Amino acid sequence: MSYKVTVDCGHGGSDSGAIGSFNGYFESHAVLDIGLRLRALLLPHVEVQMIREDDTFTSLPERCRMANEWGADIFCSIHLNSFTSSEANGWEVFTSGSTGSRDLANKVGWRHAETFPWQTNRGIKTRGSLYVLRHTTMPAILTEGCFLSSDDENKWVSIPETRQQMAQAIFLGNLDYFNIDPNKPELTLEERVVRIEDHLGL
Ligand SMILES: [Zn+2]
Repeated sequence: MSYKVTVDCGHGGSDSGAIGSFNGYFESHAVLDIGLRLRALLLPHVEVQMIREDDTFTSLPERCRMANEWGADIFCSIHLNSFTSSEANGWEVFTSGSTGSRDLANKVGWRHAETFPWQTNRGIKTRGSLYVLRHTTMPAILTEGCFLSSDDENKWVSIPETRQQMAQAIFLGNLDYFNIDPNKPELTLEERVVRIEDHLGL
């Protein structure tokens, strides 16, 4: 038994989400790539549920139902931002405002800020009205790694290394939340028992 993380890549299929102002890069494609990279990083440490692992559309109620039924410990929804003004840039993380969600958002946000210190930090924002934050039963966050409506950030996130680093930041934030050492994927039996007891609040 280990912790369970649901990775929710936003949009998909007929729903492209935001579209890059510079090269037309779809948000749905970018966040799927980030999510698959995140899964690969997480798998040695936790169980992972992918809401989607290809370019298909999944409704918001279905995304929440999948995570709730699976009994995820945390839910991470991955998005990229867009705005009418091409000047908008930077990253932000949304939380429902519940204690666990805020803690998770802070940890992921801190890792993102640490990874990309030059990027505009728009902060951790409470947005309980967001569907996937309101209808999931576990701590849940929604990350907006950059703006596709900014030519510069559109070019930047089109580079695979950027998406790898974004995935790495979410990965480290998740492990921080669970208090797992990323350098120690192989757990002893004793450590597993401690983790389970921790998890159950014993
Ligand atoms: Zn989106």
